[in-house]
Amino acid sequence: MSNHHSILKLQGKVQHYEWGGYTFLPELLGIKNEENLPFAEYWLGVHHSAPAQVSIHNQWVALQELIDNEPASTLSDFVQHHFGNIPYLLKVMDVREMLSIQVHPSKENAIAGFDRENRAGIPLNASARNYKDQNHKPEFMLAISEFWLLHGFKQKEDLEQILNEVIEFQILLPLFRKEGLQSLYCFIMEMEQQSINDLLLPLVKREIRKKQEGLLTKEHPGWWVAKYFHDQAPAGDIDRGIFSIYFFNIVHLQPGEGIFQGAGLPHAYLEGQNIELMSNSDNVLRGGLTKKHIDVAELLANIDFSPIRPDILKGQNRRDGEYVFHFPVPDFSLTHLLLNSDTIFEDKAVSPEIWIVIEGGVIINQQIVVKKGESFIVFPGQVYQILSSGKTSLYKAFVSVPNAYSQDEEN
Ligand SMILES: [Zn+2]
Repeated sequence: MSNHHSILKLQGKVQHYEWGGYTFLPELLGIKNEENLPFAEYWLGVHHSAPAQVSIHNQWVALQELIDNEPASTLSDFVQHHFGNIPYLLKVMDVREMLSIQVHPSKENAIAGFDRENRAGIPLNASARNYKDQNHKPEFMLAISEFWLLHGFKQKEDLEQILNEVIEFQILLPLFRKEGLQSLYCFIMEMEQQSINDLLLPLVKREIRKKQEGLLTKEHPGWWVAKYFHDQAPAGDIDRGIFSIYFFNIVHLQPGEGIFQGAGLPHAYLEGQNIELMSNSDNVLRGGLTKKHIDVAELLANIDFSPIRPDILKGQNRRDGEYVFHFPVPDFSLTHLLLNSDTIFEDKAVSPEIWIVIEGGVIINQQIVVKKGESFIVFPGQVYQILSSGKTSLYKAFVSVPNAYSQDEEN
């Protein structure tokens, strides 16, 4: 591979989903947001919905095109053989309003679902499409700011306590005690809309009042219920997704803390900014709290009903300022690098590495200047030196190639 392809500037794509914030991503990316659009996600990868571009001789070219032309040198033998493409998708997210209640399918279910929707003639870009590709979508998020999310079902005792404490939920207790969580969750997710309204309206009104009186904090489900309705009593139907705010764990992450969500684990992001790394997929099965496509039957068919104790990850401190995160899937790993002024970080890429600078700026190999909000890709085999010009925070997505580091670590 010619030398100038070894490290290239990279440009991602912004997704303007309604729940996104107005300032964080525009400021990061140096974009004027004159139309006041929501900037929800910044995608850095090769997913066909929003593919990234690389700069070659000052021209933007599709990264995918470069990979298709030179797969062996851009992907590495290992990645080419196991995945055939860059297997991950790196994102920066700014969550202003809570996201939908969702799960992501296993690879097996994604292949079957994609095929089923193709046979049913649902176009790939149709809003009613669940499966946009044939891949699983395990995901990891690392908080940039304080971050709040719903993550997995609560423990049985905690659920029982909630069903006891919330007057409107008390009628659900016998079913939960007799048949367990799965029956309870399927019951409420399939309940008549009128019954949902009757059950939830007094609860929602009470939570809004309690929040206004200062009786709720973000640890309490009611705070998020009130926020969802912008502190105003709902006029129309009430979304059944509200139940999940009470049934799932509310997790509060500090900057630098992360959490992994595998296939079937129900979750919803509530508020904050993060780095998200996932398999190269856009397969989301939604169960409420969104105007996007909802498919309760498909959600229930993919959900894992096991109670979850959230496992907050802080990464392995490999070297000074370098925090590495590995996961139970081979598709991706993440490094968070915190450098101070005049620190030099040296490494060698063994897979395609996608980098983004979130704070500060760096110079790579004494020639490529990368500023806040900018990204670059390092191709396998390339040795690089990163020099930071001040306090710098950057993130690297990569694939852990077995044994690639064993020699280094023995030294
Ligand atoms: Zn998700």
